[in-house]
Amino acid sequence: MNASSTRTRRTAVRLVVGIATLAVLTGPAASLATAGDRPAPAPGGAAATAAQPAAADWPTLKAGSKGAGVTALQHLLTFRGQAVAADGGFGPATTAKVKAFQKAQRLTADGVVGPATWTRLVTTLRGGAKGAAVKAAQTLLKARGQAVAVDGTFSATTTAKVKAFQKAAGLTADGVVGPRTWASLLNGGAPAGDRAGLAKQILAQKQITLATVHPGGRHAGSTARQNIVDTADGKGALTSPWGDKPNRRVALDPRMLGGLLKLRTQYGYRLSVSEIVGGDHSGNSRHYAGIAFDITHINGRHVGSGAPHKQFMATCRKLGAQEVLGPGDPGHGRHVHCAWSRQGALRK
Ligand SMILES: [Zn+2]
Repeated sequence: MNASSTRTRRTAVRLVVGIATLAVLTGPAASLATAGDRPAPAPGGAAATAAQPAAADWPTLKAGSKGAGVTALQHLLTFRGQAVAADGGFGPATTAKVKAFQKAQRLTADGVVGPATWTRLVTTLRGGAKGAAVKAAQTLLKARGQAVAVDGTFSATTTAKVKAFQKAAGLTADGVVGPRTWASLLNGGAPAGDRAGLAKQILAQKQITLATVHPGGRHAGSTARQNIVDTADGKGALTSPWGDKPNRRVALDPRMLGGLLKLRTQYGYRLSVSEIVGGDHSGNSRHYAGIAFDITHINGRHVGSGAPHKQFMATCRKLGAQEVLGPGDPGHGRHVHCAWSRQGALRK
């Protein structure tokens, strides 16, 4: 559980050449294309994530707002024919342009940029696209740690950075910037709505067993099962009172939740989760950051007693886990630990 070593993440990026060659940049009058922005496939037929982001997934920007989101907004206004300087400050000029755009779109012209306005401002972008909308996407990629030049050209590098961002955010890594990727870029991470939906899908999986007790103490509120139940209810997952970070509510990371779910739905493992944010871990453990889980049983066998842990650990890495530990690693003779990177963790 006290995971300190870090394995290099497998960085094999599939290059789908054919899909990236066609430039599709819709103009102001074009309707919003959504085809390129599929959410991660919902296993078991459940509609986990709609193609369109939820209203709550878009940030609200208004007079006085500052930063990369405002710069992106200004580029998008320019793209939509309301040219304004991209200086990152939401001043009177930006308010006037937002109102003009809203009026043209028959929205309430209040100068406040919320879900309805964002939905009409963004456009689906992919390899080959050019212009101010591309600058908006590049500005946000850069702000989210995906270093890319803000040059208005959707190059192969831009595609690679979009894919890296999508992977980190738990979206389908197709390199296409559609509504869900825009919302996620603007929010600094995966849409918050994904968490509860993923948790509900996990609860629906009878072959994912979530512990209702801890190996090291008693606290019903912080068991693996309760962590997922709370997340499904839109709450943070609770840490145990005896750990290094006692009694805290932690937002579980959609990448970790998605990885756990796919181990079952995509790879067919039957598995038992012993701890998520509860239990006792080292002070800086990824468990307390909501990006790790521990597995004690795989396909009915205990880890360390015949469970196929090597294959399972490789699958965790394939699903984006960066820190994967198990038998052979100190302290992990009887469980497998899969943890995602802190870098891609949610900032909200
Ligand atoms: Zn662990």
